[in-house]
Amino acid sequence: MICIAIANQKGGVGKTTTAINVGTALAATGQRVLLIDLDPQGNASTGLGIGRADRERSTYDLLVGELTLDDVAVSTRVPGLDIVPATQDLSGAEIELIEFEARTHRLDASIARDTSDRWDVVLIDCPPSLGLLTINAMVASHALLVPLQCEFFALEGLSQLLNTVERIRGRFNPGLSILGVVLTMYDRRNRLTDQVSDDVRAVLGRVVFETVIPRNVRLSEAPSHGVPALIYDYKCPGSEAYIALAREVIDRLPKLKKAA
Ligand code: ADP
Ligand code: MG
Repeated sequence: MICIAIANQKGGVGKTTTAINVGTALAATGQRVLLIDLDPQGNASTGLGIGRADRERSTYDLLVGELTLDDVAVSTRVPGLDIVPATQDLSGAEIELIEFEARTHRLDASIARDTSDRWDVVLIDCPPSLGLLTINAMVASHALLVPLQCEFFALEGLSQLLNTVERIRGRFNPGLSILGVVLTMYDRRNRLTDQVSDDVRAVLGRVVFETVIPRNVRLSEAPSHGVPALIYDYKCPGSEAYIALAREVIDRLPKLKKAA
């Protein structure tokens, strides 16, 4: 089971959109995918049609309680894509977990305990912070997928994120790698985004995926219908981009498997 955290401490950069649509595209290729919603806002859960009333068991029970992945995962309308939904009480987990001895390893332990053999790939949709929840995701993961919004300050938050990755590597998870950085909300008509994209590639090199995700209103409409854009409108430019991104992700998976 390969575990990938989708992380960036900035909000609104496309983490959840990437988690939902890459998850859907991977599932379409036959991978059995589990999306763990680690954001108390629960946008991935809502976006996949899991209403608040249907979130009897959640990520909170996984981190703070003793339930297993097998207990808390539910299926979505997307064949091959399951989810562990998030509820509001997850926001309290950051503080409640401080009391726990192995507070950084709660998610890792519950993933390691899983013997159900239900999934090939686990995607973790992280909250917009570098707090204990995101640290749990980094400790539990083989690699990070980092969405970076094409804006002037794109690279600013990145060094802080990479510093955190270094710390996690040093203390808990030496094998943690960067699967890739994906540029999101790319706007062809805006010359600044081209400049940003060139700069990011010059600084980060080949870790940046070739695929860029365009700004596309279909991607932002889909969640209100409770389905991934890839189902809502599979031919829109955003969906096509996420299919291309998933292809690149699949190409990079074998390296992770070897390291795992
Ligand atoms: P995050 O999880 O990093 O906070 P989201 O994926 O929730 O970011 O995206 C933030 C908002 O922008 C959401 O309303 C989402 O629907 C929208 N959005 C995300 N990616 C795109 C895109 N490529 N084009 C247009 N809207 C997007
Ligand atoms: Mg989100």
